[in-house]
Parts: sequence; C-alpha cells; structure tokens
Amino acid sequence: MNIIFLGAPGSGKGTVSQIAAREYNLQILSTGEILKNMAHENHPLGLRARDEYWGKGFLVPDEIMLPLLEEEISKTIYQKGLILDGFPRTIPQAEKLEEIIKIDPVINLLCSEELITKRILARMQCKKCNKPYGLNPRPPENRICRCGGEIYQRVDDTEETIKRRLNEYENKTLPLIKFYKERIITVDQDEKTTPESCFDDVKKALDSYLS
Ligand SMILES: [Zn+2]
Repeated sequence: MNIIFLGAPGSGKGTVSQIAAREYNLQILSTGEILKNMAHENHPLGLRARDEYWGKGFLVPDEIMLPLLEEEISKTIYQKGLILDGFPRTIPQAEKLEEIIKIDPVINLLCSEELITKRILARMQCKKCNKPYGLNPRPPENRICRCGGEIYQRVDDTEETIKRRLNEYENKTLPLIKFYKERIITVDQDEKTTPESCFDDVKKALDSYLS
C-alpha cells in the first residue's frame, strides 16, 4: 500500500501519517530527507540539488527530484509500502509519479478554516522541554508544564498569514484531489479530534476502502 496524505498546515497531517506508518508498517518517504541523504552520500544529482537549489533556498526542479525519488523508491525498505511526504505538489509531478509507483489510496484530511485557525492560534509550547500544547491537549490552567517549565503562546502566526497560507494550499491541492479522484479517502475533523482519534477515523475509512 502506497499512500499520500493531503492536509492543510494545521490539519495534523504529519502526526497522523507517523501513526499510520507505525500501525501499517509503512515507510515514510520525505523528499526533503532524500535530498539531504543523497547530498550527504555525494550522489552527483544530490550534490547538484543542494548546491544549485535547496541550499540556496530554491525548489529542486522535477528533472532532478524525480530520478532521485525513483532511485530511493527502488530500495527494498519501501517494498512493503510507503507514505509519501511532500510530494507530489503539482499535476505534472503526480503524472510522472504514476510511472514510478502506484499510489493508492490518497487520504485527504479535511479541516475547516475556522478550526485550523483556532488550532494554530492556540499553539503553545513549554519553554523547557518544548512539549507542544494547544486545543488538544490543552495546557494546564496555571500554564506550568509537567516538567516544571513555563508554557508560552507561540505568536508566529496571525489570522491573516494563516488565511493566506490556507488559500495557497487549497489552490495547489484542488487539482491533485481531482487527479486522484477515484482514490481519495476523505476524513473530516472537528474540535474534539486528536491525532489518535483522527488516525482511528483514517483506519476505519481505509478498512472499508480496501474491503
Ligand atoms: Zn515541559
């Protein structure tokens, strides 16, 4: 089973895909990690990707990324299945990916703009151990972490920047949802959703999709 998770920033995509990888014994394949590893191993394309593109803050073009991705996917650790992280982002990438590997299913983690905004604005963190808090789990009333550290509000986002990022995400993702339409599993979230309960919903949806 080779899966892609789609989900806006704040949808919990990262955490839920980690739980899914563990439960289904899938390997998470992140294009960012591939690039780092290939450069570290002095792979010629990996070095080019680093020195000409991501090392300078540019996106790595498909003609470099795709051969690296194909080479990585051919490794035996991915034979039981994988979760692709950070790829594809465009239709041409999705089309080329079809030639390398069969993606099925694509899990779309839905989350209303209102809830995402609430979640992101509620983000807090312990100063000492960096434990994250927010809507779930909420911080204790006295804002003191179990480790004794002080919990502070992370104010790196405003409603405006969140809205802009969500719009960008939606514009990029809608074409992908159309592209994969027969393979999409949609999982909705509400205020009570935790990463664990979200994974339970994913599991239920997956089971009925696969049966
Ligand atoms: Zn702490």
